[in-house]
Amino acid sequence: MTRALDDLKRTIRDVRNFPKPGIVFRDITPVLLDPGLFAATISLMSEPYRDERISRVVSIESRGFLFGAPIALELGAGLVPIRKPGKLPAAAQRVEYALEYGTDALEMHHDAVGAGDRVLVVDDVLATGGTAAAAAHLIAGTGGTLVGYTFLIELDALKGREKLHSKRVEALLHYT
Ligand code: AMP
Repeated sequence: MTRALDDLKRTIRDVRNFPKPGIVFRDITPVLLDPGLFAATISLMSEPYRDERISRVVSIESRGFLFGAPIALELGAGLVPIRKPGKLPAAAQRVEYALEYGTDALEMHHDAVGAGDRVLVVDDVLATGGTAAAAAHLIAGTGGTLVGYTFLIELDALKGREKLHSKRVEALLHYT
């Protein structure tokens, strides 16, 4: 486990000033190039929720899909994509959320999560928590139970977990 975490830390690439000046982008794509490390990552991200009877894995566009799909298979759960507006074909609920400047929106098919579902939210990076909190908002309208979140990376200084209302938040790597 420690070995895999060390390998992950070495493999994730820091790209300075992307997508704008002052941001250090944590690029997870090198992890995807290494099948053994990718598989270990999926296993470790799933681990805390193995006994939680998760029935839906909700993953957030777009890098969240890369982790959400294999985690759903690993946990034997259905996969639910949350997407930017206008991308989902059937009837969808929408939530708007605040960005640093302006607002953004996310959508989820209205019949993807229902009463009795136990839901895990997956994304690659927890930064300010705005995106994950928006996903929680969508799930709150369904009658399903939000069990927790799993991230590959948490950017601790941005305090995103404070927006996630004391739900279980798991992250493999923490960056200060
Ligand atoms: P937030 O809503 O601020 O928690 O931002 C989370 C979303 O933005 C995630 O879907 C991440 O993929 C992406 N993100 C935010 N900051 C970074 C970063 N420094 N490096 C890579 N991805 C990031």
